[in-house]
Amino acid sequence: MLFRPKSLKSFQRILGQHKVLVSEEDLLSYSYDTTAERVIPQMVVLVESTEDVQAVVDFALDEGLIITPRGAGTGMSGGSVPLKRGIVISTERMAFIYQVDPEARTMLVGSGITTVAVQNEAAKHGLFYPPDPSSYKASTIGGNVAENAGGLRCVKYGTTKHYVLGLEFVNAHAEVLRTGALDEGESPFDLTPLLVGSEGTLGVITTILLRLIEAPAARGTLRLLFPSLEEAAGASAEIMAAGVVPSVAEIMDKAVLEAVTAFTGTRLPAEAQALLLIEVDGPAEAVEAGMAQVEHICRTRRALEIQSTRNPVEAEQLWTLRRSVSPSLARLARGKLNEDVSVPRSQLPDLIAAAQRISRRYGLLIPCFGHVGDGNIHVNVMFNPDDTLERKRALQAVEEIYKETVALGGSISGEHGIGYVKRDYLRLQMSQSEIDTLRRIKQAFDPDGIFNPGKIIPD
Ligand SMILES: Cc1cc2nc3c(=O)[nH]c(=O)nc-3n(C[C@H](O)[C@H](O)[C@H](O)COP(=O)(O)OP(=O)(O)OC[C@H]3O[C@@H](n4cnc5c(N)ncnc54)[C@H](O)[C@@H]3O)c2cc1C
Repeated sequence: MLFRPKSLKSFQRILGQHKVLVSEEDLLSYSYDTTAERVIPQMVVLVESTEDVQAVVDFALDEGLIITPRGAGTGMSGGSVPLKRGIVISTERMAFIYQVDPEARTMLVGSGITTVAVQNEAAKHGLFYPPDPSSYKASTIGGNVAENAGGLRCVKYGTTKHYVLGLEFVNAHAEVLRTGALDEGESPFDLTPLLVGSEGTLGVITTILLRLIEAPAARGTLRLLFPSLEEAAGASAEIMAAGVVPSVAEIMDKAVLEAVTAFTGTRLPAEAQALLLIEVDGPAEAVEAGMAQVEHICRTRRALEIQSTRNPVEAEQLWTLRRSVSPSLARLARGKLNEDVSVPRSQLPDLIAAAQRISRRYGLLIPCFGHVGDGNIHVNVMFNPDDTLERKRALQAVEEIYKETVALGGSISGEHGIGYVKRDYLRLQMSQSEIDTLRRIKQAFDPDGIFNPGKIIPD
């Protein structure tokens, strides 16, 4: 018996039976994210309000169960996989937009609202919500906040943390706490920064007050091909050094180019070894000037081909190859370890060169692409999941990539979080006393360890 029948029945009566899932086929749908790990929870609760979350925490405390918060399950580090079973709290029904204040430029939302719904709502008011993880059509704002999600535009606009003014969460004692601009008591210590990026280990976020900004008046897009990765990375660095802050600066190496051109049937010059996709936004004159500067720098950097447009429909065409990366790579091998490492911008060519060396040493394909503007690169180790030895080599290759990243002054996670997949590698980057500090913060918030055990902090 998983639960005492009496307590389960009374829980279902209090909450409403339609919110509580216990059948095997229902539970299966909440057992995974985009990583390979699958763990079937004992119960899923589709919460609809903060009070529902409080009731679940109360029930979990009574029953001695743990809780894994879950948004859309698009995470790439195993954060929403219920490693130790227990209860999954899914926020999918908390997809609320409570209020938009165009004057204050804020939006109050439920944590289960999707990123795209927030972006669209902001646009209706002539405003802009910049964070844009590529999963924006599915991912929730709660998941974005819990992972401090980045995305294509963070080179200019920053990550999710720059847009969270305050939040409400339910703690491990089933109490409701409000932080930042939502804290009516205006306490001098703002807990918001601790909750952002906490990956569901400190509490369940229920409501978020988001900061919006003025929408850029114009946008220009450039797609540039280069004869070498060094020229492409060098051009990107030079663009930034010249004072142009692009809103998007994406790079693809030769292996990714081969995959996306084969997938989309696009023909590129045979000498093309790397691609840059640049966007510049802002007032129309600034966009004109920025694009001219980007073109000039790329010409002097021996760009093989430059395509540019200010027309949004044509811009979509220039985006085609970038948007095709995920499905294109999926055709190369069934196994993919997608590592979102990040290094200082100037070290990027060295990191990609290291990935190429590791690729040759382990006999594995390692295509690289990502946000060149802020040094956050997706290094994808491709392997056959049915081949045990190849899987082992892939994991060794990943560890070497982490070591190279740290040696170059970088971080093992640029945006996907630590979860359980990077938990045991945290020591490569953090000292024992830093890890102990993390552990003490966790204990202060969650003394009984009910929220998302097994994540972030190495044993
Ligand atoms: C195709 C694809 C592209 C992606 N591109 C990007 C990208 O460009 N940038 C980027 O940063 N990420 C990217 N991701 C990763 C992922 O989409 C983000 O991490 C996203 O923020 C996860 O949101 P989610 O709602 O799916 O959260 P989930 O995967 O459900 O959960 C993620 C973590 O947040 C916690 N959590 C969720 N909701 C709450 C809550 N209400 N309270 C407390 N904790 C909570 C969970 O416990 C878990 O630890 C991508 C993923 C995919 C599949």
